[in-house]
Amino acid sequence: MEKTVSIAIDGPSGAGKSTLARRLAAQHGWLYVDTGAMYRTVGLQAVRAGADMDSEQAVAALLPGLSLGLRYVDGAQHMFLNGEDVSGLIRTEQISMAASRVSAHPTVRAYLLETQRAFAREHSVVMDGRDIGTVVLPNASVKIFLTAAAEERAQRRYAELTARGERVTYDAVLADVKRRDANDTGRAAAPLRAAADAVTVDTTGLALEDAFCLLSKTVQSRLA
Ligand code: C5P
Repeated sequence: MEKTVSIAIDGPSGAGKSTLARRLAAQHGWLYVDTGAMYRTVGLQAVRAGADMDSEQAVAALLPGLSLGLRYVDGAQHMFLNGEDVSGLIRTEQISMAASRVSAHPTVRAYLLETQRAFAREHSVVMDGRDIGTVVLPNASVKIFLTAAAEERAQRRYAELTARGERVTYDAVLADVKRRDANDTGRAAAPLRAAADAVTVDTTGLALEDAFCLLSKTVQSRLA
């Protein structure tokens, strides 16, 4: 069997991970795996069930009744929750925050870990998240820590949400970005941090095209 390549991309929300990771995967014909979407799907289920998201027990109780599917439709990753395609529903601010809260629980992380690792065993992948280089794929071929200033990440997220018709203010989005950063870096289970052997790519002030160029070159040079 041909050896698979795995590119781990971690970083805070809004750093451009998903857009850049998707493009990198397409450039090389690798599979893009968005692990945040998996946490978002668990978050959606917790919201629907009215569960106390800060209670590990309450969230863990939802997992046995949850069928979480990840399928590729026309090359794009879609998430299915008990058979329903929830790919669009998981992209709201409410679900972003729910994902951030449920992902703090070790039971939830353990529940998703094996699925994530299985993808990388079977395919060449670009996988993005918060703990890919540190926990999920410690032996990844290349590890990238993709970051940008909080204000710029909030600006990008604000543009994305308003373009989709969500009624939000920049200040509220910035506050959410900072709150999620604090949740993700401050939690005990698999906190967001750069792996010791990760290369940091800072996209502050870079247009998308330039950010992609920088990422792509960094990955190429590490693979060579
Ligand atoms: O990447 P995305 O913003 O879609 O992730 C949603 C939330 O899921 C993050 O704020 C983070 O709390 C959580 N997450 C995580 N570990 C990952 C991916 C996402 O804890 N590997």
